Amino acid sequence: MYRSHYSKEISPQDYNSSVTVAGWVEDVRNLGSIAFLILRDAQGTLQLTLLKKKTPEVFEQLVSLPRESVLSVKGLCKENEKVRNGYEVLPETVTVLSTAETPLPLGVVDRVESDFDTRLDNRVLDLRKPEVQAIFRIRDAVLAAADEYLRSQHFLEVHTPKIIASSSEGGTDMFKLQYFEKQAFLAQSPQLYKQSLMATGLDRVYEIAWYFRAEEHNTRRHLNESTAIDVEMAFIKDEEEVMAILEQLVHAMWTRASECSAELAVLQKTITVPHLPFTRIAYDNVVEKLQQQNSPIQWGVDLSTEDERLLGDIMKEDGIDFYFITKYPLASKPFYTMPAGQKHSRGFDLECKGVEISSGSQRIHDVGLLTERLKACGLHPKDFEAYLKAFRYGMPPHGGFGFGIERFLMELLDLSNIRECILFPRDRTRLTP
Ligand code: ATP
Ligand code: MG
Repeated sequence: MYRSHYSKEISPQDYNSSVTVAGWVEDVRNLGSIAFLILRDAQGTLQLTLLKKKTPEVFEQLVSLPRESVLSVKGLCKENEKVRNGYEVLPETVTVLSTAETPLPLGVVDRVESDFDTRLDNRVLDLRKPEVQAIFRIRDAVLAAADEYLRSQHFLEVHTPKIIASSSEGGTDMFKLQYFEKQAFLAQSPQLYKQSLMATGLDRVYEIAWYFRAEEHNTRRHLNESTAIDVEMAFIKDEEEVMAILEQLVHAMWTRASECSAELAVLQKTITVPHLPFTRIAYDNVVEKLQQQNSPIQWGVDLSTEDERLLGDIMKEDGIDFYFITKYPLASKPFYTMPAGQKHSRGFDLECKGVEISSGSQRIHDVGLLTERLKACGLHPKDFEAYLKAFRYGMPPHGGFGFGIERFLMELLDLSNIRECILFPRDRTRLTP
């Protein structure tokens, strides 16, 4: 290996012995007879101290290296209280593994903030920044917590097709694709497949899935390719049982994030874990509250972005960050949503500070009613024959939710743009890198 220790793994036991460290050249300061090179690895940085008299060749080789070049260095590790880590490494042999071109299109440790497009155009360099990496380390941690929580509740992880024959929700925001002689689409969500699984005896499933959505608008909270945790569970009596899983999932993920102290310190964020249960507020009540604040909202439609934000402010006044909006009008929810009375449904959204992070519902499990609702939504049952078939031979009552991972992270870390939460964002204009 080109490395015996990461920068953070070196301890007093290693002082006065030889170590091999490896990473990127963050900075070189040449003072003439002595130079300091800051080497960055996956865990942090360390200082290489170069003495011209002692190792002239190594000195010359390293002081002229462009920043961000990659090195492996074998040398003596020495205690030094003046250095941040408490130690320095005096290089004896150096292997230059890769020399960076100059100039760098994006500085990794520059004080000046680059504009977002330059950052995304040079995402690989951008991802070298500790504060950018911290987001993805927290992402990893919260997804591990989600896996653990869902598995502890006997959910099985599944993967369903992303190349599909018909629209999941009946929307128009589908990416079309040529599938040999046929027209196909990229899946907007695993909705129809995860529901179909409820008829199999795989009672409780979850999928960490890609959503592909050809939404034309560029917003700070929409991506054209995003990821989500989708959950579906059978034998429920009502949507409340689904909401209980969702809020516990959010709680488990939020708690895990609050334990990522090193990353939170880099990001200069603190996280307060919310209390359960989250507030439930019925849609009718929401409309009333919004109208009182002069919103133009009319009963029956989904909340606009402004209404969502306004509601977020209203709830914030009572110290509430998380809340479920329940019992949405039937007409505002997808065809598979279970009705509750004539005009309402068993559909809900989970909101965090005025932004939707999840939508779910109890679903219709009766094929007759489902067909009726498809037609009422202007869709053609024959386009959904493969899906409807799953309901014809024994389908238990069920429900579930879709929960956007980038939306969640954006709210968790208080980031102003969802693109910060995905490695290589796809939006209306960006298809590379
Ligand atoms: P919105 O109304 O905010 O556009 P939606 O109601 O269309 O979202 P759903 O179909 O309910 O979205 O998807 C479930 C969850 O997936 C959302 O609550 C959100 O967290 C996430 N999500 C949906 N669309 C996007 C997108 N384009 N970019 C990022 N996340 C998304
Ligand atoms: Mg939704």
